[in-house]
Amino acid sequence: MKDRAELVIIGGGVSGLGTAYQLAKRGFTDIVVIERDYFGSGATGRCGGGIRQQFSEEYNIILARESVRMFEKMSDELGQDIGFRQGGYLILAHTEKEAEDLRRNVRLQNSLDVPSMYMEPEEALEIVPELNIEGLSAAAYCPTDGVAQPFLVIKGYVDNLRKMGVELMDHTEVLDIKVENGEIRKVITDKGDIETRMVLNAAGAWSRNIAKMVGVELPNKPYRHEIMATEHMKPWLKPMVISFHNGVYFSQSHDGEIVGGIGDPNEPSSYNIKSSLEFLERFTSVVVRYIPIMRKVKVMRQWAGLYDVTPDARPILGPVDELPGFIQAHGYSGHGFMIHPMVTKLLAEYIIDGKTSIDIEPLNLRRYTSGETIQEKNVVG
Ligand SMILES: Cc1cc2nc3c(=O)[nH]c(=O)nc-3n(C[C@H](O)[C@H](O)[C@H](O)COP(=O)(O)OP(=O)(O)OC[C@H]3O[C@@H](n4cnc5c(N)ncnc54)[C@H](O)[C@@H]3O)c2cc1C
Repeated sequence: MKDRAELVIIGGGVSGLGTAYQLAKRGFTDIVVIERDYFGSGATGRCGGGIRQQFSEEYNIILARESVRMFEKMSDELGQDIGFRQGGYLILAHTEKEAEDLRRNVRLQNSLDVPSMYMEPEEALEIVPELNIEGLSAAAYCPTDGVAQPFLVIKGYVDNLRKMGVELMDHTEVLDIKVENGEIRKVITDKGDIETRMVLNAAGAWSRNIAKMVGVELPNKPYRHEIMATEHMKPWLKPMVISFHNGVYFSQSHDGEIVGGIGDPNEPSSYNIKSSLEFLERFTSVVVRYIPIMRKVKVMRQWAGLYDVTPDARPILGPVDELPGFIQAHGYSGHGFMIHPMVTKLLAEYIIDGKTSIDIEPLNLRRYTSGETIQEKNVVG
């Protein structure tokens, strides 16, 4: 184990490993990545793998669009098939207000080069013939949205980082960070200390605990999010189907399972990741309302993970004013996997060049004290 490094990254999910990879690609390899469990054990390995560009807010659309361009090349670049499949995202609206929101979002997305389209419910049947369109007011579809397999992305990063000479420490817990005279001095782990001047806080829903070690308060809160998978079927569902009306999303995986989840507006903030029968009942009743033939399909397994949620549902990126060597990379809510390629590239630019090709200033922690926040409305997976 190294006892000093230019950068210590805390967290072995897509945020930490993705940033390490983008840095190493540019020759910055004096890094130690620390993960207290196995790589991908946090939200990343529990996520649905959905990748959409259909956001309501310009900045998120651009991050997602650039990320899709990177996902398209990722299997070749990593030398690892990441299971990327562009079956699109079909968003369902129930009310006139939701239809109007979709119309406005599609206009904004199109103006930013995202090929999404607004459609009447009947037109959605051309994409998912099994859909029950009763009670729907509209739909939106973007054919270049899709899914990828989080564990394969993690494997691709880990294998490449090892070859590139980056030190990866799994099953190692960060216990404290020592600061002297306004500068980071060392990271203390249960396997020993590492001297460093720079730390990337990529600890997902636990980032606020890491920040507390250096006296920084984060507004992030953890929320359980449950998800399940059915038995395997022949391929029949091409897109990820999603509705902001009830917070549901589901798609068919590469292996033929239907994988999906549903948000619970009454879920309290906690670190609970137990599975519940209530979730199963709620999710399955909403899914069979949309796809009646799903009544005959068996549920095989369910699990849960944590959404790391900020007050405006947008990530916190970049340094903190009181401790410039302490860089933030968390708060991704339900869309950290899909935007991570571009976000991690920007973080690498910030660390190496001190400036970024897309301004990350609007996502700095200080927006919560300056009041310059913009709410992302579409927060389901
Ligand atoms: C059920 C579910 C479904 C989702 N579906 C989607 C989806 O379809 N599309 C999408 O884009 N996003 C989705 N998300 C969100 C996505 O998974 C996250 O935004 C993303 O994975 C966050 O990555 P991360 O690297 O920031 O955090 P994580 O993957 O949680 O990684 C943080 C890591 O830090 C480690 N850690 C914490 N404390 C310490 C410490 N003291 N020392 C060392 N290590 C530490 C943890 O063990 C963890 O592995 C979903 C999330 C859940 C829970």
